[in-house]
Amino acid sequence: MGIIRVNRPAADRNAFEAAWGYVTSIAKGMQLTMKIMLKQLLKLEKSETLEWPEQPATYSERFKGKHFLTQREDGQVRCTACFLCATACPAECIFIEAGEHPDHRIEKYPVRFEIDILRCVFCGLCEEACPVDAIRLGPEYVMAGSAGDKWVYTKEYLLARPQLQGGIASIKVENDKHPAINKIASVENNKSVVRH
Ligand code: SF4
Ligand code: SF4
Repeated sequence: MGIIRVNRPAADRNAFEAAWGYVTSIAKGMQLTMKIMLKQLLKLEKSETLEWPEQPATYSERFKGKHFLTQREDGQVRCTACFLCATACPAECIFIEAGEHPDHRIEKYPVRFEIDILRCVFCGLCEEACPVDAIRLGPEYVMAGSAGDKWVYTKEYLLARPQLQGGIASIKVENDKHPAINKIASVENNKSVVRH
C-alpha cells in the first residue's frame, strides 16, 4: 500500500485569529449546551441521562457481559475441561484444572475453573471456542467494586451466582458435540442389540 501524503493544515495567520477561533468555538459549544439544558428544564425534550442505580440501563440482549458456565440437565457443570477457551483467550485469564469425571461416559470435568476478570477484555473468544456451549458471556454489566473484592471468578460463582437464579442450562442437546459420549452410547446400544 502506497504512502498517503496529506497537506498541512493552514496555520493561523496571527495570534488574534487563533484567539478568535478559540473563543468562537467555545461560545458555539456553550450555546448548544445551554439550548439542550433549557429544553430539558422546560420539559420540551427528554433527558438521556439515567439516575443510576435507580434507573438501570437497558442493553441489547446480545450484550456480552459477565461470564457464566452452563449446566447439564442434572445440574452439573457442562464444561468438559478441554482447554479450548483458555487456549483461545488472548488475555490468558482463564485457569482450568481438569479432573476425571466419576461418570465413565464423560472424560473430564473442571475441578477448578477460574477467570481473572480484571485481565479479561470481553472479546468473547472463549465463548466462540467452546464446542459444547459451556461458557457464555451474559447480559450482566454491573462489575463495579473496590480493592479487596474478589476479582477472580470461581467455578461455583460462574455456575450459580444469585443473578443466574439457580443456573442456566445449555441450549445444546445433552450429547451434542460429545463424540466420546455418542461413541460409547452407540457401542452400548449395539451390545444390547446383540444380547437380544
Ligand atoms: S472474553 Fe476474551 S479475554 Fe475474556 S475470558 Fe473470554 S477469551 Fe479471555
Ligand atoms: S468452557 Fe468449553 S472450551 Fe472451555 S474448557 Fe470448558 S468445554 Fe472446553
